[in-house]
Amino acid sequence: MKTNTTIIIDDTTLRDGEQTAGVVFSKRDKIAIARMLDSIGVQEIECGIPAMGREEREGVKALVDLGLNARLITWNRALLPDIQSSIDCGITAVDISLSVSDIMIEKKLRKSRDWVMEQLKTALGFAKSKGLYVSVGGEDASRANLPFLAELMQITLDMGGDRFRFCDTLGILDPFTMYDKVHSLCRAVPDLPIEVHTHNDLGMATANTIAGIRAGATFANTTVNGLGERAGNAALEEVVMGLKHASGIDTGIDTHRFRELSLFVSKASHRTLPAWKAVVGESVFAHESGLHTDGVLKHPGNYEGFDPAEVGLCRKIVVGKHSGSSGLIERYKDMGIAVSRLEAIHLMEKVRAIAQQTRRPLNNKQLIKLYGVKNAA
Ligand SMILES: [Zn+2]
Repeated sequence: MKTNTTIIIDDTTLRDGEQTAGVVFSKRDKIAIARMLDSIGVQEIECGIPAMGREEREGVKALVDLGLNARLITWNRALLPDIQSSIDCGITAVDISLSVSDIMIEKKLRKSRDWVMEQLKTALGFAKSKGLYVSVGGEDASRANLPFLAELMQITLDMGGDRFRFCDTLGILDPFTMYDKVHSLCRAVPDLPIEVHTHNDLGMATANTIAGIRAGATFANTTVNGLGERAGNAALEEVVMGLKHASGIDTGIDTHRFRELSLFVSKASHRTLPAWKAVVGESVFAHESGLHTDGVLKHPGNYEGFDPAEVGLCRKIVVGKHSGSSGLIERYKDMGIAVSRLEAIHLMEKVRAIAQQTRRPLNNKQLIKLYGVKNAA
């Protein structure tokens, strides 16, 4: 991939994220989420489906009225009334979605590839005549015939379309296949930018998004916390941090508010954020085992791939069954109690016994009590 390529994050928390079964954002939450995404530098926000109805349109209009730096884009079927309802909301960028795999063309639409091509020409022609920025969305592109996708991309380019969205709608690819498919499309139609939209059904959404980018895609569709249909989409925080730390690609997004953003979306979507959630879970920088704690206290880089502060988290030293004396000394130090190495070694026996009995780590109150008992003895 070219090293100076700019990667654009198109976050779809407010569209695919809200499409998660059982998730509905209030207008106020939508505004707050859009503002946060905008303030951390997310360049594009997919913000709804205007054709869904009056309330959805009012939500989209409210976001347009915010005058954000981020470009707002809506999701549309390849139907003129859908596109018109986006225009009516004051939207200037649209994703026009078409089913592109033979299985969907035959068994869902009950049409033909030719019909899909005609549909694309009609919808894209209309959108471009209205001066819109257009992403052509290939639904189920991961199962589609590649030469057919290239043909659709060429039509898109010839008609002034702005990019093609390669969707792994069912989340069935692995990163290697993703790379191969995106790479071959980039080579077939080099002048049309590709966006990748992945799903997490096999736990590979983030990896597939990064593979797509490494293969030449320049847009990534993400959601906060990986919210989205079924097992969800590629998580914004994972894609951005993965690109930065695993692939050496800086998206320019300010990551310091990721934890705050994740908590907000978790609350607004009524979806608990697991403590071990990659990048933003509250325990992903918690250290308990003796060896790791000792190592991280000597130098954080020993056991932390990146600084927790980078995503708004803090390091936590957990004292429990697997702890060693270094972690225990550190925890007492945090409470203003100086404990010697020898004292810590003695205390550890009791710590282990308590942790084994309660099957959980010790809290400050238990540690203070333990220290008091030892000193009184
Ligand atoms: Zn999707």
